[in-house]
Amino acid sequence: MHRRATDDVVVMHPDTSRGIEVLHNPVYNKGTSFTASERERLGVRGLVPPRFFPIGQQATKIWAQNQSLERPLDKWQHLQDLKDRNETLFYRLVHDHIEELAPIIYTPTVGDACLNFSKLLRRARGMYFSVDDRGDINSMMFNWKRSVSVIVVTDGSRILGLGDLGTNGMGISQGKVDLYVAGGGFDPQHVLPVVLDVGTNNEDLLNDPYYLGVPRKRLEGEEYYAFIEEFIRGVRNRWPNALIQFEDFQTKHANKILQRYRNDVLCFNDDIQGTAAVVLAGLYGAMKCLGGHRKDIVKQTFVMCGAGSAGSGIASFIHQALVANGLSEDEAYQRFYIIDKDGLITHDRNLDAPGMEPIRPFARARSDLPDGTRLLDVIEKARPTTLMGVSTVSGLFTREVLQKMGEINERPIIMPLSNPTSRAECTAQQAAEATGGRAIFSAGSPFEDVEMPNGHVMKANQGNNFYVFPGVGLGALLSKSSVISDGMLQAAAMAVPAMLTREQHESGTIFPRINRIRDISAYVAIKVIEAAAREGRVPEDIRKIVSKGEEALREYVYSTMWIPNYRPTVFSCSSRK
Ligand code: NAD
Repeated sequence: MHRRATDDVVVMHPDTSRGIEVLHNPVYNKGTSFTASERERLGVRGLVPPRFFPIGQQATKIWAQNQSLERPLDKWQHLQDLKDRNETLFYRLVHDHIEELAPIIYTPTVGDACLNFSKLLRRARGMYFSVDDRGDINSMMFNWKRSVSVIVVTDGSRILGLGDLGTNGMGISQGKVDLYVAGGGFDPQHVLPVVLDVGTNNEDLLNDPYYLGVPRKRLEGEEYYAFIEEFIRGVRNRWPNALIQFEDFQTKHANKILQRYRNDVLCFNDDIQGTAAVVLAGLYGAMKCLGGHRKDIVKQTFVMCGAGSAGSGIASFIHQALVANGLSEDEAYQRFYIIDKDGLITHDRNLDAPGMEPIRPFARARSDLPDGTRLLDVIEKARPTTLMGVSTVSGLFTREVLQKMGEINERPIIMPLSNPTSRAECTAQQAAEATGGRAIFSAGSPFEDVEMPNGHVMKANQGNNFYVFPGVGLGALLSKSSVISDGMLQAAAMAVPAMLTREQHESGTIFPRINRIRDISAYVAIKVIEAAAREGRVPEDIRKIVSKGEEALREYVYSTMWIPNYRPTVFSCSSRK
């Protein structure tokens, strides 16, 4: 699975020739960082400039180049070109500048890259399985010669907020595996981005002569699910221990696929499970900001605007946490008021309508408040501590709504989670102005902190899934569990705020800084492994490590994390410069 970072001597890949071919192989290329002995033995002496530069210096130079570019998409392309030449240096750069580069290699810039993917592609990476490959998917997987620990797979049907981008969704899978490497310490040799090309319904792409996918409409219904099944069974056969991460599948398929496979194979849907875990992590962080403890989550009352897939997923996950912290199932449901486009959802609603099933247990009693009650009236009556938005309706949290939250609470928790920024239910500025900067604010999209006239700063937190998924993936793999359970995800949500400092909670910060992502992921992984062990999901060797305590587990986790440094590419006793 993971190679231990301590095995720092790498033997040349048997397929790799000497000389110029070494320089053309991004896995082995070091450019000016080959030592004298390596240059001699690999036959690259004279093929690279004479001066030796250590990786740190190479990274400084290339970082300056990247910084000098204006357009984010140019930065993205510059980084992809680097990855095509020298993977280690690419990951070193991303590792060292993760705060600045995560938005380039992933959202939002990767969205632009996906829109232009056919034009930008220089070198294929990852695997494509198309409708024309049905029946051969498993055998094709043997064209990928390496072992694989994590697969990020999309069918390109709902790429960020951009809709159906077909095979151009490959940009998303590639960006996500890069975050697994940079944030979770996965070995880049063992990650695999995948696109399932089941067609596209995007007319622009279908009419684009340079579109890279099969130009046909999407598979639907049972044909579609049979294709997914063939892919999953293929993975199970070719890489039985690999984690499959579903990415940006349209809602109507995402939930079904997750429910069908989550108790059978090691898989995870970041849009559904990662989002819910990061929102809960934010709530735990908010409890700390309020001067309390994680368990205080049981004292909260939630108004949730939006009862779609995001809303129902988040509500169910928080509900689980309330029960885990001591409330009965019923008491926990009573803490929610869920509102959709028709207002408050009660038992007067047709709860058998399509899509309503996950919301049914949250419906309020008829005697409580009339069905359809509007947001402001619900807040007036329910006196919530927390207001969440997953409605896609910009401006839904009006000044009056926010002011009311501020009247009811010393520190109201305001979470406009809809993406992109243009759909957020309110901005950080609006939340700050309406509450005198007292809100504990966390959005799905990035906002600037807001400085109030008295100098107080209201932090604009962003619930980025990056806090959770690399650690969940790492922990799940290292635990050797065969599935990712809700308990493992709940443990991940608890782990993130444990990385906050006292100064951070005092300032209203509910998520740690992204530049600590390696440590955050390692800690999340530790907690995920412990949870898996508590649930009896780990084999004996892992159980033994867990039983030795957190320190032993920490050592185990860190020892597996790949570090972006060059390693000797030839065995050498006299490694001269
Ligand atoms: P969806 O279309 O399935 O659901 C939207 C919900 O909002 C519906 O229940 C609708 O009735 C409700 N709504 C519409 N107008 C409303 C109003 N005026 N007041 C209250 N409710 C209203 O969408 P979704 O997939 O659940 O996503 C919602 C938002 O959450 C998106 O902006 C998305 O970016 C964000 N988000 C989604 C996911 C995900 O996995 N789906 C994850 C994280 C964040």
